[in-house]
Parts: sequence; C-alpha cells; structure tokens
Amino acid sequence: MKKLYVILLAAGVTALVAQNENHDLGFTDTPILPGLPWHVHDPNRPHPPVVTPSDVPGGAPSDAIVLFDGKDLSAWEAHHSSITRAGGTGAAEWKVQDGYAEVVPGTGDIVTKEKFGDIQLHVEWASPGEATGNSQGRGNSGVILMSRFEVQVLDAYNNPTYADGQTGAIYGQWPPLANVARKPGEWQTYDIVFEAPKFAGETLESPAYITAFWNGVMIHNHKASMGPMVYRQVAHYSPMPAEDSLLLQNHNDKVRYRNIWVRRLSGYDQPEKK
Ligand code: MG
Repeated sequence: MKKLYVILLAAGVTALVAQNENHDLGFTDTPILPGLPWHVHDPNRPHPPVVTPSDVPGGAPSDAIVLFDGKDLSAWEAHHSSITRAGGTGAAEWKVQDGYAEVVPGTGDIVTKEKFGDIQLHVEWASPGEATGNSQGRGNSGVILMSRFEVQVLDAYNNPTYADGQTGAIYGQWPPLANVARKPGEWQTYDIVFEAPKFAGETLESPAYITAFWNGVMIHNHKASMGPMVYRQVAHYSPMPAEDSLLLQNHNDKVRYRNIWVRRLSGYDQPEKK
C-alpha cells in the first residue's frame, strides 16, 4: 500500500511538472483568437522561422537574397529603357567599382533575373557628388518594384520639383511623408515593404501597397498604389504577372547603388493564405 502511494505520488508530481512545463509554453484553456484557429497563448501556434541578423546595420540577414554585394551584377541583366529609349537585352552594363554600381548613360535600365512579388527590400544609393541640372534632371533614377511601381530616386537636396515626383515619391501619385535628403554624393538608404497587387482573373482584388523608410524615416505607411507608374497620366491597373523583376532606372544620371537585398515575405502565420 505504501509502495502504491509512492508510485501515485510520483505520478502526480510528474503530471504537475508536465503541466507546468506545458504552461510555460502556452495555454489551451484560453479563448480562441477572432478569425484564427489558435487559442490565446496557444502552444501549438507555429513559431516564426529563425533569421540570423547581419553583423552590421543594414546588412543582409540570413534568409535574404543578395542582389548586389558590391562585386558584380550577375543577378541582373540589361533592359530597354522606356525613359531614354536606350539599352536592350544581355548583360547589365552599369559600371561596378569600389563596391558600388553606377548608372552608365545609354546602357538602359537593369532588372533582376529573379522575379519577385511580396518583398522586403533594402537598397543604398547616392546621387552624383557634383549636383548638375535641376528638378527631375538632377540625379534621377528609380527603384521600380515589379518593373512597374517606382519609388523615385532623385537628388532632393535643395532641389525643388513637383511633390509627387520628388525623392521617395511613389512616382506621380504620393509624395513621401518627409524629405530626408542627404547631400549629393552621400549614401542613402531605402527600406521598402512591397505587397504585390492581387488579381482574380482580370479583376483587381487588392492594389499594390508600399511601406517605405528613407534613411530610417518612414515616408510611406502601407500606401496603396493607383497602378503602374505613368508620366503625366493617371495610373490604372490591368492584369499583370504575380511576380516580376526589380528594376533600377537609367535616367542618364550617374546615380550609384550598393548593398541591395530582398527577403520574400513568408506569411508563415497566416493559415488562410497557405
Ligand atoms: Mg526616376
């Protein structure tokens, strides 16, 4: 009898420990979160993937796709420029030196060989050190998501232009929330979260959304794009692929780029999207 008591006591202690361990990792006796299959503090809710951050600020984390590390443009190819009517297919011909790539006038845009939809993008750029021209003619380039949605690159330091075309603008639509320009020649950063537009057949279900930080300052907060970039027109949507190349614009100004990487947005915790 005493032996049985000891066994029961041991089992009880084990169960208590197991219960305590379980509660350390969450609860299943809690309410269900609205619209989700999980309890509040659910121990069975999937955990986010482990991502190792870079050793340096702005560096590519472990799950990033590095598009330009300062050495070569092998992830890119040339693309005919709708602005300058120059360039075509083949290898990207922008100049690579000292860890950056510089626009070469007359060689066209460059596009990534890999195509992307929803991404986080980090890109660093610098306007020509010697400011020449004015308005749209000073340090013009562009970070163009899916080869359609332009976040303007321009030298905005003491250089007035129309607001919806200034640096950081979703070109022709939305000015940035602040002008965070550094001086010509200084390196600047864009950190952009892009959600691709979604179509059901020919019907637009969800527009493209852009969230962006310029030199660490928020300039767009989940802003809906009116459609692919156009000049002197109102943008509108028509069906497009779910993914397309990231494009850097050649506007014949010698803008420099470095440290370009993207992360595909996982949506691991959104069971309805699986
Ligand atoms: Mg531009």
